[in-house]
Amino acid sequence: MSLQPPEQLALFDVPGASRPGPERARSPRPQAPAPSSGEQLTLPARIDTLPRAAELAHRLSALLKLPVHLTLTDNRATLVSFRRHPDALRLRVHHLFLDAPDAVVRAIATFIGQGDARARATLEEYTRTQQTRVRRTRRPGAPLKARGQCFELRSIFERLNATHFQGQLQADIGWARRPGRKQRKTIRLAIYDERLREIRVHPALDQPHVPAFVVDAVVFHAMLHQLFPEEPGSCPSSHSARFLERERAFPLLDAALRWQHEHLRSLLRG
Ligand SMILES: [Zn+2]
Repeated sequence: MSLQPPEQLALFDVPGASRPGPERARSPRPQAPAPSSGEQLTLPARIDTLPRAAELAHRLSALLKLPVHLTLTDNRATLVSFRRHPDALRLRVHHLFLDAPDAVVRAIATFIGQGDARARATLEEYTRTQQTRVRRTRRPGAPLKARGQCFELRSIFERLNATHFQGQLQADIGWARRPGRKQRKTIRLAIYDERLREIRVHPALDQPHVPAFVVDAVVFHAMLHQLFPEEPGSCPSSHSARFLERERAFPLLDAALRWQHEHLRSLLRG
């Protein structure tokens, strides 16, 4: 029986760098909604992490009766993955598990040892409860850009906020990334992301032929989603009468909607 401490603690993996392979079977997926572009959990500071990671590796090593090489990941797609090597088990674990209670650590060990469905469910449930605790941040190097070729969204937001909301709304705003070339029949001109408190506007609007009042209307609509958090951005089907009535406060709303309708094809082309 070997109860050796881990030989290595590889921290700060590159997210998404994990290689698929036949030995990487059994990767429970988190139940969280698919992350939108540029969104991810953040690794805790190394100085906090190292002793806790060592502790987790030690506990798993004792449960599995194997030396464990533990790598913490920030890869939301995979919670736990492992490879068996002659000398040790190489284990990659999402950093959410650093503070896991004993039952959850045991579930990791059971999952590795037996691929047990209940253990898998325990891990998924634990991840779900932790999602709300961990702040989501934008990937470094991919900040939201408010300034486009034709429109600067921050100033539009500030102006609408002052005019219609007594300056009380708080959100980041920027241009969404250009979507792929897939054929589409509809287009979402802006979304409000409640978790990140940010508005992302479709880049198809950042064109010289788009009237400013149309961009205003789209931003105003997204801002209303912060005001009515029970309507979490699932445009266009689920706006309440209250929401729609409030939207009427926007001057030129009808003209803006008409313009969008008439220019749908050119907007879809981007
Ligand atoms: Zn909406």
